[in-house]
Amino acid sequence: MTRRPLIAGNWKMNLTAARVEALSAQIATVAKDYAASIDVAVFPPACYLAQTVKAAGDAPWSYSVGAQNMHPDRSGAYTGELSGYMIKELGGTMVLCGHSERRQLFGETAAFVGTKVSAAHRDGLVPILCVGETLDERERGATEDVIREQLVAGLLGLQPALVAETVIAYEPVWAIGTGRHASPELAGDVHRFIREWLTSLIGAELAGDVRILYGGSVKPDNAEALLAVPDIDGALVGGASLEAQSFTDIIRSASR
Ligand code: PEP
Repeated sequence: MTRRPLIAGNWKMNLTAARVEALSAQIATVAKDYAASIDVAVFPPACYLAQTVKAAGDAPWSYSVGAQNMHPDRSGAYTGELSGYMIKELGGTMVLCGHSERRQLFGETAAFVGTKVSAAHRDGLVPILCVGETLDERERGATEDVIREQLVAGLLGLQPALVAETVIAYEPVWAIGTGRHASPELAGDVHRFIREWLTSLIGAELAGDVRILYGGSVKPDNAEALLAVPDIDGALVGGASLEAQSFTDIIRSASR
């Protein structure tokens, strides 16, 4: 079992062309410094994908650029959508699947998210499958049931080796963009639950290869404690990834 930490930044619908160039170049410089031990990825708005890749210059292989979403079909009459090969053509190598904003604001079902994860693998992209419970679900003790259902649907039909190559991001919905992060203990419990569930699905050896990220108000001042938890293999960062200083501080936290 060798899991390299992955620090991923989700830029959502933010930034401008000029800011994307500067931010990507600054992050690439730090990614280079930590290339021996840490993977870094950023997820710009799709229109800036190629630019983000280009601005990274000669960034090492450990610095990836991905899309925030994709459609499972290769092409077709899907106005406004983007497919896996298009992401690849723009230089992307990863894709977020089932971010809670997609599930909640755009009505994506768990089954639809699963078709995206499969399609991402088919198209040679590494999917990050996002799962997490709402506050209401946590308060009524349904966290594990909700996450299990999202995992079952999200990984449906994948060969064990592809499950192992899928990155999982545990993102409690109540912690996203709220400034209220999960405690290391709480996040650790859910990460352990996910690892155990994966073990029952694909066996301990392959489950030990799966990277499980934590996401939800990760900031430089809480990253170190969260990343120190054994089953937390990195972070998916929203707000704090929009500034080079805070995002690169989080990358540095992963090296401690
Ligand atoms: C996210 O959008 O995936 C996220 C974790 O956002 P934030 O860090 O701003 O809570």
